[in-house]
Amino acid sequence: MKNKALLLGTLGGSWSIVPEVLGFTNPGQIKLFAQREDLGEISEGLPQIDEVWLATTNGDISKSAAEKLRAWQALLGKAAPPIRIWAPEKVDDLTSQKQADSMREMIWRLALRACDERGSENVCFCLAGGRKTMSADLQTAATLFGSSMLLHLIETGFLPEHLRNKPEPKTFANELSKEDAMLFKPVILDRNLPKAEIIELKGENDGQSVNSTRFPIAMAPTDGMAFPVIVENDLKRTIEERRKRARNLLYHYAGTLTQSTAGQPFQALYVLPPAVITKLKADRIGVDPIAEKDELIWLEKLPKTDLHCHLGGVADAMDLIRIAKAMREDLDKAATPELMQRQKEWRAILLGQGPAALKEQIHKSADGYKADLKRIAQETRTKPWAVNTALISIFADLPSLLEEFIFGKYLNSENFVKIGILKYEALGDMQGSSLLQSESAIREMCRVLIEKCRKENISYIEVRCSPVNYTQNGLSETQIVQIVQSELAKALPQLHSSLIIIGSRHRKFSDCCRHVELATDILNESWYDARVPIVGFDLAGDEAFEPEKFAPIFRPLFEKCLHITVHAGETQSVESIWKAVYTLNAERIGHGLELANMPKLVDHFLDRGIGVEMCPSSNFQIVGFKDRFIETSDRLKIYPLKKYLDMGLKVCVNTDNPGISRTNSSLELHRAARLIAGGLSRWDILQLIKNGFSASFVSYEKGREILLKAEKEILTILGQEHG
Ligand SMILES: [Zn+2]
Repeated sequence: MKNKALLLGTLGGSWSIVPEVLGFTNPGQIKLFAQREDLGEISEGLPQIDEVWLATTNGDISKSAAEKLRAWQALLGKAAPPIRIWAPEKVDDLTSQKQADSMREMIWRLALRACDERGSENVCFCLAGGRKTMSADLQTAATLFGSSMLLHLIETGFLPEHLRNKPEPKTFANELSKEDAMLFKPVILDRNLPKAEIIELKGENDGQSVNSTRFPIAMAPTDGMAFPVIVENDLKRTIEERRKRARNLLYHYAGTLTQSTAGQPFQALYVLPPAVITKLKADRIGVDPIAEKDELIWLEKLPKTDLHCHLGGVADAMDLIRIAKAMREDLDKAATPELMQRQKEWRAILLGQGPAALKEQIHKSADGYKADLKRIAQETRTKPWAVNTALISIFADLPSLLEEFIFGKYLNSENFVKIGILKYEALGDMQGSSLLQSESAIREMCRVLIEKCRKENISYIEVRCSPVNYTQNGLSETQIVQIVQSELAKALPQLHSSLIIIGSRHRKFSDCCRHVELATDILNESWYDARVPIVGFDLAGDEAFEPEKFAPIFRPLFEKCLHITVHAGETQSVESIWKAVYTLNAERIGHGLELANMPKLVDHFLDRGIGVEMCPSSNFQIVGFKDRFIETSDRLKIYPLKKYLDMGLKVCVNTDNPGISRTNSSLELHRAARLIAGGLSRWDILQLIKNGFSASFVSYEKGREILLKAEKEILTILGQEHG
């Protein structure tokens, strides 16, 4: 049995093309060439046509051709297959670019619909008939959407008068003489053209392939004609865009075959034109102070992650005042007359002698601010957190004085370098456990964090917290997790967040055990909000530790498949990183500044895809590195981030304690660039961002969704910048 197919063709003045083709394809019904002895042989290689679709113009010649075709069809009756004819409205002759464009859009849509409905293996394209531009459109359509056959019809000799120049329908309704019949011959130009890959690909913004639902054309009747209105050439535009992207992809793919690239960049970037990628690789930021403002605007726009951020270090001076305000009721309840009296005295000192004098007045203990709070709490018969909140409150209208009170000489960034971990941590003494002892405080801190993330266009954050430290005022650890989860969930779906519970090495061992228990136990609680999941556990604090001591208590974390990250290689040697990876199964390392000192371990990081969470500002402030924009750091060592990046390590940039380090995610990326001789290229920055997405502890499925959304956003931003 012969294969049945739809014939898609174009129609000009010569309407008889249709019966001529059908005479060969459907010899059983159309007897035109019955006299030919070779008819069976010719017909054997052609499909049987069961429907004809024709594209034509609205001109007089075409219209009269269509009429004659219909008259011929009427003479044949049921022997002729159904014929449908389309002519784009306002396209009377193909004499302008606009008309030619509309015709092409219509022909392509017809071809797309035919191939979608019948399968391209059942669509035969006929190039005879119509203008040359129409045949060209048809031929391109066949290479795009696929075709069983590309057919042409030629005349093998000089046609007599009754067969040419608008022949009469009845001539073609009967058998031609043997002599006349021998004057026509079908020629097969191509067979079994497959659908082009760029059509099948799900792309653009809607994740759809190119199909006839997306680029529709209404069905024409089997009598008369359809006159579709072609407004936009969007099928053509979409195909052009896809071709361009495919070319770029191929170019970049060929490039990656011949040169190795460290790291795994956003794959979607490879659809950008090669010249744009070259520019992204060449254009460096963090080199020229004058360009800083523009660079920060660019960095801010990009979707980012923050995988290393301590809830207890988020607030700056303004935020502290805001949180203290939110705690007004808590404070009213806890405040004693003695504390209120103390507040008045503090305020008088602040206004009379300034923040430094006030600091002197309060800081009496050699053990630091927290010991001071305890002492004052005893003296005023209240709680340390209430003393702290009361103290912050006196700065309500004077945030810059609070900044001065907290940071002192470190307000000048020239001084805020290499100050060591203890002095750095002391700058966060007014927040963390001194502040977050009530629901209102914790909620407000979460809101502060969400607002910062929004401003910075953070798509995903992993928030670290130590619930055990926030239980001094009666909240339980589980209540604290519940509060944090419910507050962070409000930022969905723009901002996805997860929690990492911190185990502290330098606090009581029992606290760390309690946190392990918390992280594993509450996963099955009914109130547990899986939208803001606990994804991991972090071992923080003093690095001079014996991991062997922690390994046994980590076992429940392993059993729940929780991810592990460990602060290591910040203030201690590479040994601490090795221990974290080999004893505690760390999948990410916080800071990891010493990693390069053990090449074998670097290899292990590369093999296992272990992430390195770097926090440039806090690293600069605590350990000290050369920042090209800060003169006092000139003699300090080189930050290892670029080396890690070039090695292909999954290194990402994070804020650590944005309130203490006086930073945000964009500033961190900028600082990372400044810490490197010659800065970082925009391509490097995109790689750092990508690493953040791929090093996250979020579930595979959700992570993929977040990554794809970010990729799309980045592509749009770069597309706008580079036309
Ligand atoms: Zn940290």
